[in-house]
Amino acid sequence: MSQTLEDLRAQLSRINHEILRLLNERAEVSCAIGEIKEKQGVPKFDPVREKDMLDELTRLNPGPFRDAEIKHIFKEIFKASLHLQEEEHQRQLLVSRKKQPENTVIAVNGTRIGGETQVMIAGPCSVESYEQLQTVASALRKAGIKVMRGGAFKPRTSPYDFQGLGIEGLKMLKEVADEFGLSTISEIVHPAHIELAEQYIDIIQIGARNMQNFELLKEAGKARIPVLLKRGLAATLEEFVHAAEYIAVSGNSRVMLIERGIRTYEKWTRNTLDISAVPLLKQETHLPVLVDVTHSTGRKDILLPCAKAALAAGADGIMVEVHPDPQTALSDAAQQLDIPQFAELWEGITSSGLFKEQAS
Ligand code: PEP
Ligand code: MN
Repeated sequence: MSQTLEDLRAQLSRINHEILRLLNERAEVSCAIGEIKEKQGVPKFDPVREKDMLDELTRLNPGPFRDAEIKHIFKEIFKASLHLQEEEHQRQLLVSRKKQPENTVIAVNGTRIGGETQVMIAGPCSVESYEQLQTVASALRKAGIKVMRGGAFKPRTSPYDFQGLGIEGLKMLKEVADEFGLSTISEIVHPAHIELAEQYIDIIQIGARNMQNFELLKEAGKARIPVLLKRGLAATLEEFVHAAEYIAVSGNSRVMLIERGIRTYEKWTRNTLDISAVPLLKQETHLPVLVDVTHSTGRKDILLPCAKAALAAGADGIMVEVHPDPQTALSDAAQQLDIPQFAELWEGITSSGLFKEQAS
């Protein structure tokens, strides 16, 4: 007696359920393999093994599906398994949003970064003198800004350019910040200086050129103060997130990410500000995400729209360079704002409605 349509449909459903169960059983085995590979440090994707499996399946294929169809179906299964293994890996990252759904909020002397309010970090490219710092600090204080930047170790393209005042610069930064009640951030370029830096500054900056200086990242992971990690000149977001993971896994979970532009063929800006990095990093990690409008654009005339774009995209803060007399600055003379220009930018940002100031 021939089977009815209902019978056949019921049979198909049973087979579907069996395939579903087997697919998920397969996924579990494949994730277990992924974990072993992770520990051994070998790549998840193994083209030779895939080819062997496909060859075996087509050899065993009794039809009616043709070999090409079987290959196509199994390739999709392999692809989905690999994707699953990669997702598992992301879930395991300490900095991943999947690992910790709530935002990491970093408090620096009462200034909260990564929460409901935004932060402005401003100051000169390089620490040059007490007078220079005092002039900037006074303007920042008047504007209600709490965090001052200033480089003492400068990673310069040319060895003949000003290299920074070193430890002396950090001491100057601390003295002036204490005088004006500000917190400080400064770049550290050598692992041996991390511990020392803790005496003088409140946040360690790791610069774009050192984003993958793994020994420096590991040492920053031992620091008791937060770290602001800049995106490398040509770093993918994947590499950026893994650089942050180095710091976190070494013991310091107080890490902030800052997009500072990447190298592209565009010449009208110094770098290309990758606005998409902001929502993507917020989505993929629980860390505060900031945008350095100065180094990304390398120019003064588009800072306000770029800062607004960053804030609209969800940035937790903005960094900008300010110098009392940019023309005479010992580094980045072309791109630093003078104090009236900074005041104008600040007014534009605060009146945009995009920057929520922390109540003091
Ligand atoms: C800086 O902020 O002083 C600096 C050198 O920036 P970057 O590392 O992003 O080039
Ligand atoms: Mn600079």
